[in-house]
Amino acid sequence: MSTARWRAPGAPAWLRTSLGSTVARRLFLDRAVDFWLGEVDPAWSLTERRARVVSVTRETRDATTFTLDPGARWPGNRAGQYATVDVEVDGARVRRCYSLASGPGERTVAITVKRVAGGRASNFMHDHLRPGAVVGLGDPRGDFVLPAALPARILLLSGGSGITPVMSMLRDLAARDALRDVAFVHCARTRDDVIFRAELEALAARHEGLTLTLSHDDEGGPLDAARLTALVPDAFEHDTFLCGPEGMMATFEAAWTRAGASRRLRRERFGAPRAVPAGVAPTTVTLRLSRSDRSHVTDAPGTLLEQLERAGERPAFGCRMGICNTCRCTRRAGAVVDTVTGVVSREPDEEIRLCTSVALTDVDLAL
Ligand SMILES: Cc1cc2nc3c(=O)[nH]c(=O)nc-3n(C[C@H](O)[C@H](O)[C@H](O)COP(=O)(O)OP(=O)(O)OC[C@H]3O[C@@H](n4cnc5c(N)ncnc54)[C@H](O)[C@@H]3O)c2cc1C
Repeated sequence: MSTARWRAPGAPAWLRTSLGSTVARRLFLDRAVDFWLGEVDPAWSLTERRARVVSVTRETRDATTFTLDPGARWPGNRAGQYATVDVEVDGARVRRCYSLASGPGERTVAITVKRVAGGRASNFMHDHLRPGAVVGLGDPRGDFVLPAALPARILLLSGGSGITPVMSMLRDLAARDALRDVAFVHCARTRDDVIFRAELEALAARHEGLTLTLSHDDEGGPLDAARLTALVPDAFEHDTFLCGPEGMMATFEAAWTRAGASRRLRRERFGAPRAVPAGVAPTTVTLRLSRSDRSHVTDAPGTLLEQLERAGERPAFGCRMGICNTCRCTRRAGAVVDTVTGVVSREPDEEIRLCTSVALTDVDLAL
């Protein structure tokens, strides 16, 4: 977490001025100021952005929208971007990434969270986050966004909770009165599992330029490329924005590649596809955790994060795909390959990401 930047979204006006900030800094260390601000109001902080939950809306049996007030210092986001959200679960801070489902330019931002079986953050949020609660909120990030010059034909293609970033794009296009040639195709297990269904149907009824297709797995199986091109005959000629579960992503990535249309396909993933090079990683490695003085011998393949979790460790992580850096740590010795970049790290004391690194030798980590 950054410690030097002044961010007190909900703090009194005098504290947000540069004189107020300087005086506060002269009197206290940032963290001490933070402590006392937090005692007065949990949403006030010098060292991080905190957002207050203003409403909680149940969307489906396992998806809930949390509308957050990010305060005056929110830099604004583009439709399709995500942010990290920090919650405290059993006394430990847990950070996860969530796409901002709201349209850009609103005073509040909304995230829609699907409950994941056994998941720490999603279950905590569903069970405990109520209006008035305060969460940590990172800056908006990501390049899964509508281009500044809008494409002539747009296909928004999503599955399950992957609807969130494309819903933000749809809301943005509607607010800009730019729903001219937009196909929105969303897949869900059943009709009742369609997140934002009423709003989607209302938008489609209001805008001639929006064609809405809702595909339910229980009425004909998961959508495949043949059925998609029957629904949207010139699908490959649309600038397409895809976000959904891994199987769906793989199906449509392959279809766009076969059609020679990959450059028209933009994707957002909520998890990383594994690309551990076959035969590269040894079958048995020892992971030494030098700070806690523990060692684990592991013979099941996977990233360092997965191997540590299987060994009973609980290292901090956020995105599990190498974008949020929550699981970054120092590799003191040994060699690892980063499965996203392909870079091999073997010099002593290099920073690595546990969620994307695979051990090539025994490894010593500063954990
Ligand atoms: C860019 C981006 C945008 C995203 N946007 C959204 C969004 O809009 N909506 C949304 O719902 N999600 C979104 N996600 C996914 C989200 O970040 C979380 O991954 C998701 O909410 C699950 O988090 P969790 O803490 O509940 O589950 P985790 O605690 O991370 O658990 C995930 C799974 O791993 C298993 N697991 C956990 N710990 C262990 C362990 N020690 N050993 C073995 N298995 C374990 C759990 O049982 C569970 O099945 C997004 C992700 C990214 C990267």
